[in-house]
Amino acid sequence: MSNFFLDPNTLAFSLMLVTGLMASVMFFVWRAQKNYPGTQYWVFSNVAGTIAFLLLSFRGIGPEVLTVVIGNTLGVATTALALEGNRRFLGLKPNSSIPIGIMAIYFGAQIYHTYISPDFGLRIISASLVVSLLSFLSYKAFTEKPGLMKNVVYRTVGRSFLLFAILMLVRMIAMAVFADLYSPDWIQSVSFMIFLVFAVVWGFNYMVLNSERMHEELREKEAELLERATTDFLTGLGNKRSFEEFATAEIKRSRRYNMPVSLVLIDLDHFKHINDTHGHTVGDRVLMEVGQILQKMTRQHDQIARIGGEEFALILTHTDLSTAHSVAESFRSEIEEMVVAHGKTRIKITSSFGVAVLQDGDSLETLLERADSNLYKAKRAGRNRVTSDARPSLRLLSGARKNNLK
Ligand code: GH3
Ligand code: MG
Ligand code: MG
Repeated sequence: MSNFFLDPNTLAFSLMLVTGLMASVMFFVWRAQKNYPGTQYWVFSNVAGTIAFLLLSFRGIGPEVLTVVIGNTLGVATTALALEGNRRFLGLKPNSSIPIGIMAIYFGAQIYHTYISPDFGLRIISASLVVSLLSFLSYKAFTEKPGLMKNVVYRTVGRSFLLFAILMLVRMIAMAVFADLYSPDWIQSVSFMIFLVFAVVWGFNYMVLNSERMHEELREKEAELLERATTDFLTGLGNKRSFEEFATAEIKRSRRYNMPVSLVLIDLDHFKHINDTHGHTVGDRVLMEVGQILQKMTRQHDQIARIGGEEFALILTHTDLSTAHSVAESFRSEIEEMVVAHGKTRIKITSSFGVAVLQDGDSLETLLERADSNLYKAKRAGRNRVTSDARPSLRLLSGARKNNLK
């Protein structure tokens, strides 16, 4: 075992090169690319590592205070700074007092084991313990945010800190158990190899975290844009575009499953008069309140959209003409009941409805045309009413209404 020995100075020097490279890469990300809180601490962490390993590579050559005390402390600071960077990146409260406190105790222990009671073994044991603890705290930071570990990127990165914490604990135990039996060189060699691997792993981790965050933002922006592109800004209902998409899809579905689908067009009556009397802002409020009623009354699988100024369209899935007619009628009476208070004035409004059911050979355009022509008939017949595609029973009904009007 004692033959497995790699020159620690050379290993430290190689590590210095790797951490230096990682520091430069992270510095580039920090200064030249989109980045997030914590990135600068990842740079500091790698810079601390670079200086630490540069100093450690002069062990036995340079003064002890630099190559041992400062070198080791900076080496440990690498994990403390990584912890701070991770917490900030994850949006957790930075609690620098813990790593600073740990670092201070460690620094004291270094001085003690170097000058007062020199003990190489205890120096490694205390370094391993502190590094393990700090690395474990980094892992804890990833688990602190609910649901974060479900994301494979955060889970992998978080667990890499846990793995390092475990390895450092093993190193500590190995040192305590084997230091008296063998020369500690092999433990040091293995440790340096582990550091080398993790210097690279963490460099990648930070980049992957950065790009994952960028992707998250991109996905959020995409969803937001889609929402904006398909939502009416005033009422929050669907807009003309989402109506057309939904209606087209529903027409296809209704054909495939041989289920009826109905379309209801709604137009507020004498809306111009509301604007003229109370002003456009009040008109907008009336539109919003009508929108709320329509939204509240719409079933989950249907869709209500504002397709024009004071015009709305309702797609009723799996709904035949007579049911659609009754649904429209209930919407009509609800709007009729609505009262919008404006100062002392109570504004009331009515609406007219045109209903059509999908027929063989219909396209969205022809379906819309029929609903629109029914809406026109409802307006012509005196407004505040529902007119559907002609059906014997409904024809009778509208005939009766017309007679009443005469
Ligand atoms: P009808 O009963 O025949 O439908 O009469 P109407 O006054 O409702 O019909 P018309 O289409 O002539 O007028 C619609 C009015 O809706 C005209 C326009 O100023 C108003 N309008 C359109 N969009 C908005 C909007 O976003 N906010 C407000 N406040 N008014 C709007
Ligand atoms: Mg109109
Ligand atoms: Mg109108």
